[in-house]
Amino acid sequence: MTTILADTTCPICRQASQMILPSTPENLVFMCEVHGDFEVTKAGMDRGKHMGVPRWEAALRRAKARAGELSRACIDAVDF
Ligand SMILES: [Zn+2]
Repeated sequence: MTTILADTTCPICRQASQMILPSTPENLVFMCEVHGDFEVTKAGMDRGKHMGVPRWEAALRRAKARAGELSRACIDAVDF
């Protein structure tokens, strides 16, 4: 069961997405039709604020590789 907190926009593609309940209160979790479910740390949001789509997508790829199949990708500042 997924708890939807708010309608928002995906930080990667700026399409409409939803914010869902994070595993830790410091992270934001987005559900995007294009990019799936992923978390972003506060530091990651700060770092990505002025980044374009290619940098975000590269960061998501790195986070996914680190998370593996079983856990949700979490983008941190080091991924940019
Ligand atoms: Zn997206």
